[in-house]
Amino acid sequence: MINVEIINCPFCRENNAEHWAEECGWKTVRCRDCGYLYVNPRPSVQIRNDATELGVHASGDDLDISERRIGKKVDLYRKALQSLYADVWLVNQPITWLDIGAGYGEMVEAVKSLAHPNSRVLGLEPMQPKVTAARALGIEMISGYIDENTPKCRFASAINIFSHIYDFDDFLLKVRCILEDGGELLIETGDMGNVQERDQFPGELGLPDHVAFASERHMTGFLERNGFEIVAVQSLRVDGLLFSAKGLVKKILGRSTVLSLPFSSPYRSIRIRARKHPDVRSDQE
Ligand SMILES: [Zn+2]
Repeated sequence: MINVEIINCPFCRENNAEHWAEECGWKTVRCRDCGYLYVNPRPSVQIRNDATELGVHASGDDLDISERRIGKKVDLYRKALQSLYADVWLVNQPITWLDIGAGYGEMVEAVKSLAHPNSRVLGLEPMQPKVTAARALGIEMISGYIDENTPKCRFASAINIFSHIYDFDDFLLKVRCILEDGGELLIETGDMGNVQERDQFPGELGLPDHVAFASERHMTGFLERNGFEIVAVQSLRVDGLLFSAKGLVKKILGRSTVLSLPFSSPYRSIRIRARKHPDVRSDQE
């Protein structure tokens, strides 16, 4: 029997939610007050941390064999960074950049390809098998989570890790501590703002490894109440061919995927570039 915890809405802290979806025996609920989607009950913190370090799912399944390094991601990230950080590449000064939850290091590679050659670009990743795989490719990686030994940096990024994070307020306060004054954070995650019903979301929700699903309003809310100001927001489609192909692979492997058709879903992904504000705004808590 897996240990679970029952929680209030992680965004507005109210306890007023309705059933939204079920997957692999886990339930996602929607907060009636703020619309936030979250898994409740969810695996306990201890179960979650043990599973992450071993690189297995919190539900006890083996690591999804379709998950691996995706070289195409380097090109996709590079293209996105080129425009979103055009001002940084134009100045062409050495920078420090830490990618949090770096996976196989694709984002680190993309940043390195654009940044001044004397820059320090590295990844932080809790899953040991991924750290080992990235290091074998010559990518500088730190194993684990943000702590007092994490190097300070000018830029940080957190790409598609939001849904895995239990306490996003706490996460952002930790990111603040490793950012230099005026430093910046890039977040990319799904945007459920226009997704009303479960069947509008293409593919699996990925419960219980994914524990929360936000919209742009929630993301900017989290950032602003934890001392960040928004620099830029990009919205992008994610139900294109790559995403559908991934869903198809999982279907073949016998997972309970809703097969998605390309370009049919209101689901979006968002990238938010945010700057560390000198003070955390206490009025929003
Ligand atoms: Zn709420």
